[in-house]
Amino acid sequence: MKVGIVGSGMVGSAAAYALVLLGVAREVVLVDLDEALARAHAEDILHATPFAHPVWVRQGGYADLEGAKVVILAAGVAQRPGETRLQLLDRNAQVFAQVVPKVVRAAPEAVLLVATNPVDVMTQVVYRLSGLPPGRVVGSGTTLDTARFRALLAEHLWVSPHSVHAYVVGEHGDSEVLVWSSAQVGGVPLGAFAEARGRPLTEAVRRAVDEGVRQAAYRIIAGKGATYYGIGAGLARLARAILTDEKGVYTVSAFTEEVEGVALSLPRLLGAQGVEATLRPPLAKEEQDALWRSAEILKEAAATLGF
Ligand code: ADP
Repeated sequence: MKVGIVGSGMVGSAAAYALVLLGVAREVVLVDLDEALARAHAEDILHATPFAHPVWVRQGGYADLEGAKVVILAAGVAQRPGETRLQLLDRNAQVFAQVVPKVVRAAPEAVLLVATNPVDVMTQVVYRLSGLPPGRVVGSGTTLDTARFRALLAEHLWVSPHSVHAYVVGEHGDSEVLVWSSAQVGGVPLGAFAEARGRPLTEAVRRAVDEGVRQAAYRIIAGKGATYYGIGAGLARLARAILTDEKGVYTVSAFTEEVEGVALSLPRLLGAQGVEATLRPPLAKEEQDALWRSAEILKEAAATLGF
């Protein structure tokens, strides 16, 4: 099975590497405006295959995306000095206006997996530009934020993160919403589990977890200038869910008519068709309000772009 990656910079190449390590695809095609960069990454990653899985990794053009079941969109431009977030957004939307029609023409059956930030607005841009049904355009959204939320809760509660069911929804960014109210471990509500474990969720613990999730990207960027390994692995995992028709639940971003008509993250069932169902876990009043605030922020950003 073929996976295409358009935009083979740090995030795109990290996704390709993770696809190889996880053995997700048989063939990975790296497309980039900078063909030499894509070729170099492809060659380097190919050399990892004898140590991992037999995946054919190569540089290619749009025509080489033919037959791909998933195409990861990680193309983007770097922020210029003095450039506002909106100007950057506008330039990335222009990049996607060039890229998306070519991808859809070459791989009309593919699920498009959007990684470029701000990922929710870019997912909405791709949804509009592609003309595809909303489920076929999936943003990485709060996949990583949810993973981090679970990991931090698991660490505090001394339990495997695999047994923690908790979600981060809304924008992948400052206004994201940690859903504490319906979080649980093994069917036991989070608060009750924490008490029984002798590890209560005090205000201070909640604040530390909230800040640990919300500030992660800022901390990483401050230390190394960019984030790519985590998101690369997350993208490979999402690609696998689509390629294997897994129907697993992930907090991915997709255009959602009922929530302000924007793309944002909710727990969604991911399978061969992309998003196959959207879950609406019960939210406390303040979480519901925060989700609507998050949706409004995204709506404003999309409106300024004309999407
Ligand atoms: P990130 O850290 O988000 O991966 P990078 O700058 O490393 O950022 O990667 C973005 C990649 O997108 C670059 O390799 C760049 O060449 C590529 N790119 C930019 N514009 C286009 C385009 N129009 N078509 C294809 N690739 C593009």
